[in-house]
Amino acid sequence: MNAPRIGILGGTFDPPHIGHLVLAQSALTQAQLDCVLFIPAGRPAFKLETVVASAEHRLAMTRLAVEDNPDFAVCDCEVTRTEVSYTIDTLRELKASLGPSAKLFLIIGADSAAELETWKDADELSSLAEILCAARGEGGAATEHKGDEAQLASGHKGEGHKGDEGHKGDVSFCVRSLRHKRVRPLCVPRPLCVPPLCVPTPIAPRPLCVPTPIAMPALAISSTELRQALAKKVSIRYLVPDRVIAYIRKHSLYDR
Ligand code: ATP
Repeated sequence: MNAPRIGILGGTFDPPHIGHLVLAQSALTQAQLDCVLFIPAGRPAFKLETVVASAEHRLAMTRLAVEDNPDFAVCDCEVTRTEVSYTIDTLRELKASLGPSAKLFLIIGADSAAELETWKDADELSSLAEILCAARGEGGAATEHKGDEAQLASGHKGEGHKGDEGHKGDVSFCVRSLRHKRVRPLCVPRPLCVPPLCVPTPIAPRPLCVPTPIAMPALAISSTELRQALAKKVSIRYLVPDRVIAYIRKHSLYDR
């Protein structure tokens, strides 16, 4: 049996939006993943002051956002932890739970990639998971994210990022709960950016984790902008799944 290839998309999801979904789908397709686990941060390491909705609300919204995609699942392993969420702890937990044969892929946007070296135990991240990174669209508040591939090898900030009922924190259950799992043929080569012949490979020292690029349409959407729009009663239709919008309305989240 092929080793399962599992994508991990951690985030605050405050609220989840189509940028997250397109990012996950792009990684799923291009890296030939079997599934993507969305993992909402319980107490996000570097957003302790700015996170707005409770972990329970963010978990519920994330479940609603992915429920119509059989290749996506939500894992509550960070929400059920009382301590601050660090990606490295989640990767270790997933490895222990899924077994050594599982191949993990950490999916991030360029703003997160620029911060990688400041994350807890950053030097171990790439030994536990291959890192897949997509550029972020720019514009409006999204420019705060400085989304740009050029950042991949330069800037830093901090660990920005930061299941199912009856199986709290059980990551194996989250994976098993996927309704449909594609079986992929052996030996399908992954699309990689292969430099043309005769272009010398750079020998300059590389950053700790060199992410594999993922192409996706530039979507200048961020949760920050969406919260601001909601506070001003501006429509967020088509930027967030309808089910999530209904949940936000029902619970009067982000009213101000
Ligand atoms: P906030 O505005 O509150 O900081 P966010 O929109 O950045 O939130 P997060 O939940 O923090 O959302 O993001 C989780 C992951 O998804 C991060 O790796 C981030 O880079 C990536 N991401 C978020 N929005 C986009 C987008 N529009 N395009 C590509 N990647 C994105």
